[in-house]
Amino acid sequence: MYTNFQQYLQKEIQQIKDDGLYKNERIIITPQSAAIKTQGEGDVLNFCANNYLGLADNPELIQAAKDMLDKRGYGMASVRFICGCTDIHKELEKKISDFFGTEDTILYSSCFDANGGVFEPLLTDQDAIISDALNHASIIDGVRLCKAQRFRYKNADMEDLEAQLIAAKDCRFKLIATDDVFSMDGNVAPLDKIYELAQKYNAMIMTDVSHSAGVVGKTGRGTTELHNLRGKIEIITGTLGKAFGGAVGGFTTGKKEIIEMLRQRSRPYLFSNSIPPMVAGAAIKMFDLISNDNTLQDKLHANTDYFVAKMKAAGFDIKPTQSAICAVMLYDAPLSQRFAAKLSEEGIYVTGFYYPVVPKGQARIRVQVSAAHTTEHLDKCVNAFVKIGKELGVLK
Ligand SMILES: *Cc1c(COP(=O)(O)O)cnc(C)c1O
Repeated sequence: MYTNFQQYLQKEIQQIKDDGLYKNERIIITPQSAAIKTQGEGDVLNFCANNYLGLADNPELIQAAKDMLDKRGYGMASVRFICGCTDIHKELEKKISDFFGTEDTILYSSCFDANGGVFEPLLTDQDAIISDALNHASIIDGVRLCKAQRFRYKNADMEDLEAQLIAAKDCRFKLIATDDVFSMDGNVAPLDKIYELAQKYNAMIMTDVSHSAGVVGKTGRGTTELHNLRGKIEIITGTLGKAFGGAVGGFTTGKKEIIEMLRQRSRPYLFSNSIPPMVAGAAIKMFDLISNDNTLQDKLHANTDYFVAKMKAAGFDIKPTQSAICAVMLYDAPLSQRFAAKLSEEGIYVTGFYYPVVPKGQARIRVQVSAAHTTEHLDKCVNAFVKIGKELGVLK
C-alpha cells in the first residue's frame, strides 16, 4: 500500500534537496548556552538560539525545576477542564499577568498553541482580523482556523493598516494582529501608531511577544513598555521557550473576559495537556529573577549595542534593529549559505536565511545576541565575520 506514496515522498524530498532547502539539524551535546559542543563541529559559540537572557542553563532555574519535580511530580496526565491544574500553574499565570500588567493569563503548551487557539473562540464571520504580512506562522495558522474576514497589511506599514481598517469598517469587531518583534529583521511593531489607529477605527490589538519578552524595553516587558502601552493592549501572546528560560510553554494574557472565554472555548487549551509542574516552577523562579533585578536585560542591551556597533564599523550592512536580532545583509542566497558554512568552521554558529524564508534577493545571516555572551564571545564573532567577509569579497 505504501509503495506509491513512498516514491512520491522520495521524489519530493529529493526536490527539496535539489532546491538547496533541505534542513539539516545539528546535534548539541551540552546544555543550551553561549558556548556549546555539537556532534561533528565540536565547540562552537552559539549565535542562533533564542536564549536571549541566557537562562536556558541557569542553575537557579534548574534547581527550581528539580524542587518542583519532587513537590508536584513529573506530569499532569490530563487536560485542565477535566482534571484541573496545580496551584503552581495558577501562580505562574498570576506572575505573567503581573509582569505584563494584564488582568488574567491562560497557559498553553506552546505559543504555537496559544496563537492557534486565540482567534477562533473569539471572532466569527461578522468580524475582521487585520494581520501584518510578516506575522509568525502560528498567527497565520490561527487566523486560518477562524471564520473572521481576513485583511492583510504590509509589514509595519501604517498607511496600509489604515487602508485595511477602512476596508473592514463594516465588520462587527476588528482585531489587529501583529508580532511584537519581526524575527527576520529584528524590527519592532510600531505599536504606538497601531494603537492610535486602533482607537480611531474602533479596533482591538493582539501582539505576540515571543521575540520581545525579556528583550525589548528597559525591563524586557516588550513593545508595550517601549511605547508606554502597559495594560492597554487587549491580547498578548508569548512563549516560555525563548528568553523566559527556553524550556516549553506558551500563554495568552490580557483582558479578563477574553481569557475567561478562551478557558471555555480554546481548543488547544481544552484538548491538550498542561505544561509539567517543574517547568511552571522554574518559570515562576525566572519571573522572580528578572522582575527583581534588571542585570540580564541591561547586559543583553549592552551586548546588542556593542555587537551592532562593531559590525557596522567593520563595514557590514545591518538591518536597523530594536531587538536582540541582528540581520547581516548579504542579499545573495548562495553567498549567505557559503558565509554561514565558513563561520561554522570558525566556531561561530549562526543561520543563513534566504528565499522563501525571506524575500528573493534579501538573503542574510541572522545573529541573535544573548546576555550570556561575554565581550570575548562577541569579539570572536565579529572577527570571524570580518575574516570571512574579506575572503568572500563582502568587505573591501
Ligand atoms: C517562536 C515563536 C512562536 C512559537 O513559540 P513556541 O512556544 O515555541 O511554540 C510563536 N510566535 C512567535 C512570534 C515566535 O517567534
